[in-house]
Amino acid sequence: MNAPTNDHLMNTYARMPVAFERGEGAWLWDDKGHRYLDAVSGLGVTALGHAHPRVAEVICDQARLLMHTANLARIPWQEKLADRLAEISGLDRSFIANSGTEAIECALKIIRLYGHDRGLENPGVIVMENSFHGRTLAALSATGSRKVQAGFEPLVGGFVRVPFNDARAIRKIADAPNEVAAILLEPIQGEAGIVVADDDYLREIRQVCDEQGWLLAVDEIQSGLCRSGNWFAHQHAGIVPDIITSAKALANGFPIGACIAGGIAAGLLTPGRHGSTFGGNPMACRTACAVLDFMEQEELAQRSAKLGDRILDGFRERLNARPEVVEIRGRGLMIGIEMECDVNHLKDRALEKNLLINVTRNKIIRLLPPLIIDETQADQIVHTICELIEEFAPAKA
Ligand code: PLP
Repeated sequence: MNAPTNDHLMNTYARMPVAFERGEGAWLWDDKGHRYLDAVSGLGVTALGHAHPRVAEVICDQARLLMHTANLARIPWQEKLADRLAEISGLDRSFIANSGTEAIECALKIIRLYGHDRGLENPGVIVMENSFHGRTLAALSATGSRKVQAGFEPLVGGFVRVPFNDARAIRKIADAPNEVAAILLEPIQGEAGIVVADDDYLREIRQVCDEQGWLLAVDEIQSGLCRSGNWFAHQHAGIVPDIITSAKALANGFPIGACIAGGIAAGLLTPGRHGSTFGGNPMACRTACAVLDFMEQEELAQRSAKLGDRILDGFRERLNARPEVVEIRGRGLMIGIEMECDVNHLKDRALEKNLLINVTRNKIIRLLPPLIIDETQADQIVHTICELIEEFAPAKA
């Protein structure tokens, strides 16, 4: 069921029949005054919840002081944010953009420069099946979904696709003559339905990159910033990539993206080679600094790990025996329930029960609740979704 859409908006989204007017923490209220529990966070964005007082305060204060100056002058809040990103990532330098897909574009441009510096004529990037990296032309070309790419050909070239979580496929490319400059992957595939990379796999591809002189770029746009139970999901494997892309939760809803790079990759962009009018303005950067401070002070990574385990245990206890549930998986507060059949309509049924969920690839219930939810709210998410699944598919006798 899709709501009637406005005739003056391009028809890009299949929207749910609801309009939200305000929010507080994990709660949202629609224009009729009904309250909903948000288990999606605007697709992994509002990690600190809605109308977070500290975020609201810095946005109001900065709007009164100075919203924007171009990158023609120094921007102290941008410098401060870059310092913070270096601290939490272990990488040296950031480029601040406005969105996830722009962070990916920046990463891909760095990879191209790196490849050319190494003498490759057509530097390639190994990317994954079922990945999602965004909607601009290079990002959608890197994306492993024909649905995202169809109609936008000719795609940007140079991407070599392999199955996710399969180190042998990467070794096979490495063992033959190749023009690869980098590997790009999500440590937890989000759009694919919360598919977690094995820690051993991440360690092995780090090793292949080191052996081959390839850059390792990890897309942490959805999985990063405490959601998986660590600042970044790849940190569970104890590896350090060469490039990290971040966005979504970075300013809790204020548009921002960051491409963070270390070592040789950190120094390849020089004046005139990349830029953005809005990217890195004082408003976005100060907001992001406040978000990172709050995440650290409130230990949201630990909280996410703990509550994520609670939700996963709850689902496993109640749903494991059900034949129509294929798999319950996740890390921290990034959780997927893969179902046997199409469950797209469950998001509308959930809405009727005052719960906001997401369904990806038609068969996977995807949950990205705010990291500030409490145990009661976590239990409510489990209870309502189990009820929905039980009602939708009664247990076979
Ligand atoms: N990469 C990943 C892993 C994502 O999940 C997304 C968005 O869902 C993007 C990139 C694109 O980010 P944005 O929508 O901010 O351009």
